[in-house]
Amino acid sequence: MSISPDIFENTEVAFANKGNADLQKAKVLFGFMANNGLVSMGSSLANFALALHLPVAPIFRWTVYNHFCGGETFNECKRTISKLDNSGVGVLLNYGVELKETEKDFDTTLNKNIEALEFSGKHQTVKGLCLKLTGIGQHAIFEKIQKGDILSAEEKKGFEGVKKRFEKLCAAAAKNNVPVYVDAEESWIQDPLDNMVDQMMAKYNHGKCIVCNTFQLYRHDRLDFLKTSIEKAKAGNYLLGAKLVRGAYMEKERKRAKDMGYPSPIHKSKKEVDKDFNASVNLCLDNIENLYLCIASQSEESNLLAIELVEKKNITHNHQRILFSQLYGMGDNITFNLARLGFNATKYLPYGPVTEVIPYLIRRAEENTSVAGQTSRELSLLNKEIKRRRAN
Ligand SMILES: Cc1cc2nc3c(=O)[nH]c(=O)nc-3n(C[C@H](O)[C@H](O)[C@H](O)COP(=O)(O)OP(=O)(O)OC[C@H]3O[C@@H](n4cnc5c(N)ncnc54)[C@H](O)[C@@H]3O)c2cc1C
Repeated sequence: MSISPDIFENTEVAFANKGNADLQKAKVLFGFMANNGLVSMGSSLANFALALHLPVAPIFRWTVYNHFCGGETFNECKRTISKLDNSGVGVLLNYGVELKETEKDFDTTLNKNIEALEFSGKHQTVKGLCLKLTGIGQHAIFEKIQKGDILSAEEKKGFEGVKKRFEKLCAAAAKNNVPVYVDAEESWIQDPLDNMVDQMMAKYNHGKCIVCNTFQLYRHDRLDFLKTSIEKAKAGNYLLGAKLVRGAYMEKERKRAKDMGYPSPIHKSKKEVDKDFNASVNLCLDNIENLYLCIASQSEESNLLAIELVEKKNITHNHQRILFSQLYGMGDNITFNLARLGFNATKYLPYGPVTEVIPYLIRRAEENTSVAGQTSRELSLLNKEIKRRRAN
């Protein structure tokens, strides 16, 4: 079967789950996000309201939260999950509460994630759990380790705590047979995160993928790191879990490098990033016997290239080691059309209490204003579908 290059233009499939009112609401939301000034004002107001404990949760819930999140509880998520399942779309769950710093918070996050693994183990369409290691351990400790600084006794104890939590989490993932996708974070803490993930992959990824690392292809050293990781997994006789992303912290990375006077780890141009991302997809598909691949991108070009390569290499569409993922609330034209063609398409689905997920949502809105083209693409697809429905 040959893939039509305009498969992601099919808005009827993309928005089949959305009623007319949902489309209009999404249009207002993306219209707001297309305006940098409004987003920055909205973010400041939201932070202000949260700091004063003003009752803003219902407004958030009705607007951004419902659009980008699965629900406050697993029960609420079930509705979203089963709606997606009806279209052949799975989910990667993410406990959306961020920026915690105390040992008690880390333990809470660990327990929430273990609950999520138990829930996921009972729901086939949940294909995995996404999490940040900075949700269970201190950012500052990872930074010190990467710098090669000597840790104080307390910091050593803190780091032992993170490792224990991660061990527990991976053991729960194995017990429930649900993969854990570990996010890639800032380059100045990434080495210790990679080491921790490598150790757990070597321990658990035998015959299946329980632990998966993330490769940010906006970094100019990550294609090589991916190659090394593939070889390391082969030599160690375990499967590599490889989630490919472009990367979410471009501005922050560049600013830090400039402020501190070291060369930026980020590619100079988007073109170079795209080249490495696409080369990584190709490399992973060529090594699919030795790894699990998650293509986590909202780029139509990269997703199209991936499915064309799958066809060219005679790999089946629903190959159990290949997963696609887009954020819930975005890129529906990609996810639902991939699912229609039989690919393992998923949504990255954050959940959690409305007020605690607000920082995630603010970041999402700010990212949307900084990712040129993405918001306007969402708007044009929504307009196309609204027009199509009116004409019918
Ligand atoms: C399921 C899922 C999981 C994710 N997990 C992670 C994660 O673990 N860690 C993480 O960092 N991000 C993660 N992300 C976020 C991801 O990195 C961004 O969504 C992604 O960068 C947006 O790129 P894109 O592939 O969707 O496509 P595009 O819209 O084609 O690319 C935009 C991206 O290209 C890069 N870029 C843009 N302009 C330039 C430029 N001038 N120079 C260099 N680079 C440029 C930036 O990375 C920018 O975000 C995840 C996303 C998804 C969907």
